[in-house]
Amino acid sequence: MKVVMLAPPGGGKGTQSVLLSRATGVAHLSSGDQLRAEVARDTELGRRLAGYTAAGDLVPDELIFEILVPVIVAAARTTGGYILDGFPRTVPQAVRAEQLGAELGIPAEAAVYLAVPDEVLVERLLTRARQEGRADDTPAVIRHRLEVYHAETEPLIGHYRGRGLLVEIGADRAPDEIQAEIRTRLGAS
Ligand code: AMP
Repeated sequence: MKVVMLAPPGGGKGTQSVLLSRATGVAHLSSGDQLRAEVARDTELGRRLAGYTAAGDLVPDELIFEILVPVIVAAARTTGGYILDGFPRTVPQAVRAEQLGAELGIPAEAAVYLAVPDEVLVERLLTRARQEGRADDTPAVIRHRLEVYHAETEPLIGHYRGRGLLVEIGADRAPDEIQAEIRTRLGAS
């Protein structure tokens, strides 16, 4: 299974990716987690990344590809695929990832889009901020991340639809129900 999970911040792609990974054995790769781990190691690269992630701005593509491509290739080799959570995040990233995927023989087979209205997202993100204390879950940064999502990431929906890869799922409901639908639609149940 080689899938891209697509959702607004707080849309549940982390939760659904974990459940899907558990059910299939295919690696779940969260770009945000990879970046946060690098920031936590306090390397020079980590300090450069922190400026972007703390503000809710996108990390430049060069850094993203440098960090993620080796991890994705290794996951595809060892677990038979990947569940990408947070990458690609822009149409240019998707186009470059498609080229690489084709060259390496590991192209994405589906893009699962979890559709959730903005009002629900803000509430979920504020709850997560209270529970996890993430540095980028303050009200101002949340608003900014939603703006970045609408401007930069939402165009991926049309992009993947045009490629015939989009699997759209209404995601303002219980996580188990969403997961069941994802697996049915991907033929993984
Ligand atoms: P996330 O955990 O997916 O919400 O990502 C947290 C932050 O990491 C984002 O607000 C961005 O600053 C950065 N980030 C994650 N994935 C990407 C990506 N594919 N391209 C650029 N920046 C990213």
